[in-house]
Amino acid sequence: MEQGVNARENLEKVRAAIAAAEKEAARENGSVRLVAVSKTKTAEEIRPVIDAGQRVFGENRVQEAQSKWPGLKAETAGIELHLIGPLQSNKTADAVALFDVIQTVDREKIAREIAREIKKQDKRPGLYVQVNTGSEPQKAGIEPDEAAAFIAMCRDELGLKITGLMCIPPVDENPGPHFALLAKIARENDIDTLSMGMSDDFQTAIAFGATEVRVGSAIFGAR
Ligand SMILES: *Cc1c(COP(=O)(O)O)cnc(C)c1O
Repeated sequence: MEQGVNARENLEKVRAAIAAAEKEAARENGSVRLVAVSKTKTAEEIRPVIDAGQRVFGENRVQEAQSKWPGLKAETAGIELHLIGPLQSNKTADAVALFDVIQTVDREKIAREIAREIKKQDKRPGLYVQVNTGSEPQKAGIEPDEAAAFIAMCRDELGLKITGLMCIPPVDENPGPHFALLAKIARENDIDTLSMGMSDDFQTAIAFGATEVRVGSAIFGAR
């Protein structure tokens, strides 16, 4: 582990900051779930955070997650693993097999592959749609104005249970309007779970209604 990084202590600080942000936003204590983002970190670095009671984790690459999480899941009951990075169609079967939640459903081809694998493997991963709130050409996610039609297609045509939305605001912009847009799309489409906010902006995201925040470096140190 990186010198001087005390993930356990950092985890406590992040939990306290989440609780303070909930209070500040007049939201119920415990209404925001923490997804600890463990990408690039080894099993040895992740284990103390599991030992400190954290059970929900996010990884952004299927292959990397496959190398660490089957072992960690076997050690501790109740681990919930989220895929938060873009999904390639040739990795869909592996993703459905390993992840409890896929946060990055963002195009028809992937949605169809997921639907096929869910049937084949008899699995029920939670599914969120990623929305490209900043319409950035290089970024994954469905365009905001196409989100409603895409969610309806996933639900009505493919029978997928879409329960959440996820976004990653542009790095150089005030994230507030992006979080507000995601919350609006969720309301309009009967979606409860809002995955938004990272180490630098999770308090803002909580003020805008985040129900899940994805926090990596504030817990595990810089990557
Ligand atoms: C890496 C990552 C995070 C965590 O970012 P930090 O700034 O380290 O908290 C959150 N969400 C996604 C999609 C990521 O890829």
